[in-house]
Amino acid sequence: MENEEKKIYVSQAVKKRLPRYYRYLRQLLEDGKLRISSLELAALMNVTASQIRQDLNCFGGFGQQGYGYNVKYLFGKISEILGVGERYTAVIIGAGNLGHALAASGTFKDRGVILKALFDISSEKIGKSISGFPVYSLDELDEYCMNERVDIAVLTVPGSAVASVSEKIAATDIKGVWNFSEVELSLPPRLSVENVHLGDKLMNLCYDIKSNQSEEESAGAGQEE
Ligand code: NAD
Repeated sequence: MENEEKKIYVSQAVKKRLPRYYRYLRQLLEDGKLRISSLELAALMNVTASQIRQDLNCFGGFGQQGYGYNVKYLFGKISEILGVGERYTAVIIGAGNLGHALAASGTFKDRGVILKALFDISSEKIGKSISGFPVYSLDELDEYCMNERVDIAVLTVPGSAVASVSEKIAATDIKGVWNFSEVELSLPPRLSVENVHLGDKLMNLCYDIKSNQSEEESAGAGQEE
């Protein structure tokens, strides 16, 4: 069908890089930059120009020979691919340290996601507000989701609570879980899950430091020989 919107499929590797393009292009727009060459964008993002061209070609290029990329257009297209304009809505489940920090950050707003509320089981937290967002009892989640559109649940509960909270999430129309708990989720396949594990990233960093040290040591030993 001619009018049917063409669905864009991108590889997992490109999908992972898109949020980074989104961040850099948003900053360029804020700085009033209207166009940018693949070379300039590559230097800014510390990748190769051919990587940029390859990535952006996946969904039609958007660049013009001799002109470079129109920043606003490219930002618009990447926002569209990432669903930023969909105005997805989120709730945080677990109003503890991490729940507080996420509610207070610009993480949601900066990416077009509307944070609506937090849910918890602690009577000390229920009924209060955190960074202007109401905290409700987890028992109200089901009813809340029937009355309000909720697309994303942000999971910041202790590991021991994950199984029971997952069951509650699965019983709603929530479409995706941003999982900060360090437990693998068991959810129906209709739900998308994105796991975040900062500790793993720290270990990757330690690994890189250790590898660099070993390389330096063996290079040093080589010179001494
Ligand atoms: P926290 O103890 O400060 O907060 C947990 C909150 O969850 C509390 O407010 C508690 O009342 C609430 N809660 C407990 N059971 C609940 C339930 N069944 N339903 C709803 N709320 C419930 O803990 P935190 O430091 O905010 O950490 C939260 C989670 O995030 C933990 O699982 C922790 O391991 C994890 N964490 C992950 C990362 C990461 O990189 N992914 C980093 C830090 C913490």
